[in-house]
Amino acid sequence: QVKRAGRHDYRFFTAAMHQRAARHLQLVNLLRYAIERGQLRVVYQPQVALPDQRIVGAEALLRWTTPELGDISPVEFIPAAEDSGLILPIGAWVLRQAVRQARAWLDAGLPPLVMAVNLSATQFRDTELPELVSQILLEEGLPPEYLELELTEGVALHDPQGAITMMNHLHERGIRMSIDDFGTGYSSLSHLKKFKVYKLKIDKSFVRDISTDAEDKAIVSAIINMARSLGLKTIAEGVETAEQLAFLRQQDCDEMQGFYFSKPVDAEEFRGLLADHAFHGSPRARG
Ligand code: C2E
Ligand code: MG
Ligand code: MG
Ligand code: MG
Repeated sequence: QVKRAGRHDYRFFTAAMHQRAARHLQLVNLLRYAIERGQLRVVYQPQVALPDQRIVGAEALLRWTTPELGDISPVEFIPAAEDSGLILPIGAWVLRQAVRQARAWLDAGLPPLVMAVNLSATQFRDTELPELVSQILLEEGLPPEYLELELTEGVALHDPQGAITMMNHLHERGIRMSIDDFGTGYSSLSHLKKFKVYKLKIDKSFVRDISTDAEDKAIVSAIINMARSLGLKTIAEGVETAEQLAFLRQQDCDEMQGFYFSKPVDAEEFRGLLADHAFHGSPRARG
């Protein structure tokens, strides 16, 4: 009985593994042509500042739709892009789209904002990254202070010395950096002090239960206080409710991002949000 169950489990496990490997391979093969087939697009999620919930930034998030598989989440295809090296051309494409979009909104007379773009581990290790970013900014005509690169805590900590060097190079070119998913890694204060970052993005796993869980409350509060004493700004991601907003406001978190304000939307819709905010202030803040 036990033996049979064991064998069954084993076969199930290998079948699942095989399926995952096959899917991975399929994604890599499709991803190779995603740019030229026009299957990638960038959506933008507002980042709002307290106290008045003004839109001060946008996070560029990549979307991929194929005729074969439909919509595929970046949580699934970014790792495939990483493993195959395709993240370098794809990452450069996202960066250019986002920078171009930020320039277009400025040209349209909309209130200035900082465009945040996610960087993967491979991009961050690419020694040509600082030159690439500078070149895109120059070609698209966007001053560096309107761009922010989001780097996950895990990537920064994998090779702290390399990360510090890369951050210094980017910093010299006036490019801002923030630490994404902060709290999920194990940054020490001594690392944070050396990292040339100006903002910490508090991971949404801590924000989710912030109104009910005493430990999450304590963690978020500690991150905000630590950031403040190091002269760093904070942004909370995954804000979905008025209760979460109230707690973050009380803790003096600088900025917020989440479905409570808006889901990620296409450039057209984002422009509408910006225009509305520019002339009327935040609809939520008014209400
Ligand atoms: P991330 O950078 O931490 O992005 C935040 C994720 O949280 C996004 O998921 C966003 O849609 C989602 N989100 C926003 N507000 C809420 C909320 O209120 N509640 C919840 N539950 N989720 C919320 P998305 O777009 O699926 O992206 C997932 C991850 O994929 C990103 O996490 C980032 O790590 C990666 N990613 C996305 N676009 C890119 C890209 O262009 N380059 C790279 N390297 N990674 C990307
Ligand atoms: Mg991010
Ligand atoms: Mg994040
Ligand atoms: Mg995240």
